[in-house]
Amino acid sequence: MNLSTEFPLTQTTVKKRNLLGYDLAHMKAFFAEINEKPFRAVQVLKWIHQFGVDDFAKMSNVSQALRAKLADIAQIKAPEIIMEQKASDGTIKWLMRLEGGNSIETVFIPEDNRGTLCVSSQVGCALDCGFCSTAKQGFNRNLSSDEIIAQLWVAHRTLNQLADHSEARTKGNSQQKIQDSKNRAVTNVVLMGMGEPLLNFNNVVEAIHLMLEDHAYGLSKRRVTISTAGVVPALKRLREECDVSLAISLHAPNDQIRDQIVPLNKKYPIKELLSACQYYFSGDTKKKQFTVEYVMLAGVNDSEKNARELVALLKKMPCKINLIPFNPFPNSHFSCSSSQVINRFKDILYKAGYVVVVRKTRGDDIDAACGQLAGKVRDKSRRL
Ligand code: SAH
Repeated sequence: MNLSTEFPLTQTTVKKRNLLGYDLAHMKAFFAEINEKPFRAVQVLKWIHQFGVDDFAKMSNVSQALRAKLADIAQIKAPEIIMEQKASDGTIKWLMRLEGGNSIETVFIPEDNRGTLCVSSQVGCALDCGFCSTAKQGFNRNLSSDEIIAQLWVAHRTLNQLADHSEARTKGNSQQKIQDSKNRAVTNVVLMGMGEPLLNFNNVVEAIHLMLEDHAYGLSKRRVTISTAGVVPALKRLREECDVSLAISLHAPNDQIRDQIVPLNKKYPIKELLSACQYYFSGDTKKKQFTVEYVMLAGVNDSEKNARELVALLKKMPCKINLIPFNPFPNSHFSCSSSQVINRFKDILYKAGYVVVVRKTRGDDIDAACGQLAGKVRDKSRRL
């Protein structure tokens, strides 16, 4: 955060500061800069993130003079929602338009005991993983912290509105109300949408501060997960600055296969990646394990030999394994392993003592499953 690089606070300022993505420290610095008390930062943070307010006039415990001053120099602005789709399994997908003609996607996945929001961190992705449809769109830019947190802000607001409607609908039926509210709250956030979160480090970390902040969303560190293809130096930094849960997109039991499907592996091969994961967990008794993500690609990484190689590779690693059935998209050159092959692969890992889960494909009737998020990317990479 460097306030001096932002817009000057004069009456002639054309562009107002967007407070949506300011974490507590940033908000306090902002209020200090405009000669206001630090407690105002907490008040405004609560209005924005806990009550979903985007209009200073509604902040009733803030003095009228300060509300007017804020309206003059600042704003609370989320990207415009251009589409909201609901899948037959309750999954909701939002398409949001960003400035500059790009758009991003965010997905909410309700389950019996939790609600997971899958958040994007970049417009497109530069990593070029062969099996991912976001990669096929190319890369445009990093999302700002306000564009990242806006995805949770929008989901929170929408789900609260749905809960209010259901409250009216289910008057008197307390059991139904409890069930509905369980289905309609974001309890977990996974940075598994478009982009590579660790290549947008500062903005992702500021948005995560807001996710964890008691005066904002108050999620526990265990319930916020960064998924990465393995940007090794950033993993080390993450441990120092914001040690949330970790998922690693491994997808292969050796460098030979991984080089083919996750090109970043040529820069940070498996051995370096796994030792960075071990470092991430060293010296912390509360953190139990990280998640290894492994997409099941027919004939590429799904043989019994591959499963045994994976067992040997992950020996002594504090991890559980998520097998992800490959979700196809137009012009993808891969196909998903059969359920028989996936089960055999799973059994080998399971018998070797690993906790292993086959990820359920959710929201595929609205293209909201893993690797299907595309949005609209004005590609700037030379790759395409
Ligand atoms: N860049 C980050 C996060 C985005 S992708 C990462 O690589 O982890 C989130 C997860 O979905 C990753 O594990 C990714 O490899 C997986 N994924 C991507 N495309 C997929 C597809 N078509 N089918 C199934 N999983 C996919």
